Amino acid sequence: MLTTKDATSTKERTRRIAFYFVFIATFVVVFFRGLDATLAQTDITENDLLAASAGRALRIGSVADGHVTVIPLEVYVSRVLAAEGDPKAADAAQQALAIAIRTYTLKNSDRHARDGYDLCDSTHCQVLRPSTPTSRRATMATVGQGLTYHGELAEVFYSASCGGRSEKAGDVWPGADYPYLVSRNDDVCEDDPPWVVDFRLDDVRRALERVGFEGDRLKDVDVDGHTSSGRVSRLRLSGMRPNVIAADQFRMALGPTELRSTAFKVEKHGDELRFTGRGYGHGVGMCAIGASRRALRGESAKAILEQYYPGLEITSLVSIPPVLVVVPQSSGISVTVPKASSIAASEIGRIASAAHNELARTLGTSVLPMTIRLHDTPDSFRLATNRPWWVSEVAEGTSIDLAPASVLAQRGGVEPSVRLAVAELLVADPLAGRPAWVRIGAARYFADGPASIKPASSRTKCPTDAELLLAVSATAQREAETRAEGCFARELPKARDWRLVR
Ligand SMILES: [Zn+2]
Ligand SMILES: [Zn+2]
Repeated sequence: MLTTKDATSTKERTRRIAFYFVFIATFVVVFFRGLDATLAQTDITENDLLAASAGRALRIGSVADGHVTVIPLEVYVSRVLAAEGDPKAADAAQQALAIAIRTYTLKNSDRHARDGYDLCDSTHCQVLRPSTPTSRRATMATVGQGLTYHGELAEVFYSASCGGRSEKAGDVWPGADYPYLVSRNDDVCEDDPPWVVDFRLDDVRRALERVGFEGDRLKDVDVDGHTSSGRVSRLRLSGMRPNVIAADQFRMALGPTELRSTAFKVEKHGDELRFTGRGYGHGVGMCAIGASRRALRGESAKAILEQYYPGLEITSLVSIPPVLVVVPQSSGISVTVPKASSIAASEIGRIASAAHNELARTLGTSVLPMTIRLHDTPDSFRLATNRPWWVSEVAEGTSIDLAPASVLAQRGGVEPSVRLAVAELLVADPLAGRPAWVRIGAARYFADGPASIKPASSRTKCPTDAELLLAVSATAQREAETRAEGCFARELPKARDWRLVR
């Protein structure tokens, strides 16, 4: 009997549980349907993102007309995400990209300091499009989050497709060595079919000529080395001067949308070169196509970021302060130095002012006002100037970018670099349109003093623009610069006036 009673009450309980289950299930379905409808009605707006930006905003400069627009940080992230992200990608991929975009934005927000804004609106920085409900939702879901390494903002890169294996940053940009931008297999990209593109040798020669190479006939292009990921690192150009080029520079010269990546093989067929390759873009950091595929198979934004940026942490960025101090000067020279700089802005201003006064008298030109920026890290210098680590200073228009003080200290100190940069600015206008060896040779000749420079022999060929501007190593760079100043010293007596050397 006991058993029967128990059986009855068990049955009763089961029925009751079943009833509750149906009731709760119905309630849950009805409730979430309602919630879904409510969510759809209250899409996240740019006003919500403005409120979430907590007063942080960016000045975005238009490359087309120079107009500067102030955009709240989170609104900006949602607009870049709309431009860079795949609109059909799942939420986790959108969120991972939103975090990468926010990190890149804050890390690079002084990139255009000398232009009077923070970031430009072209591919040089990040392109924007009107935000979409998807991009605003992913931005709001990750508001204020960025990637850090040991508590500092990380340097993040992303590209369209890695082709099965990502690239180590230092293999694309010499000196850019980050422990979290390493080469890794990406299983979701392994089976993509290769792309094929043909170029006529003569068109390749013309493209190389446009970036400063010389030669009447390009006979062949051969792979001259690979990176750790198996991409091409260098190419040999038989028939051209110089006869070697970094593969990344070669891709830029041919057009990065034509030659999609440096993960290629090249074969010569008659007067054509056939490139067969994988992936699209430099392959460093996050792979956008890979991120979408990972999100589709259920990976979270965190897991996606761990795959592409191993070792970085997702951090709330509210507490990370800006790092620069600007000192305007009455001399017409304004200097920006890092906060904890070992050299004061006023000291750099004094060196530049003295060099300018002296060289302007010799040369009969002037470039005031000018702005000088001493970079905090080699990465910041490289990102602002697009030049490799072995370059100490870049002078353009009325601005000078200097490598970090610690780097300059190993190369003879701040003074010679500042002098040379000032000389480059002073000769730039009168020598506009002249080959690079004339401009660089003249600046070095006047900055160092004629007494210290040995004229080149009559047989010495002056360096091509590519030898000076696209050198593949520090040694090649130094050798080309020495030849440039030797050439200038040889040609100056013939031309009589430095402005007439050509
Ligand atoms: Zn830019
Ligand atoms: Zn990939």
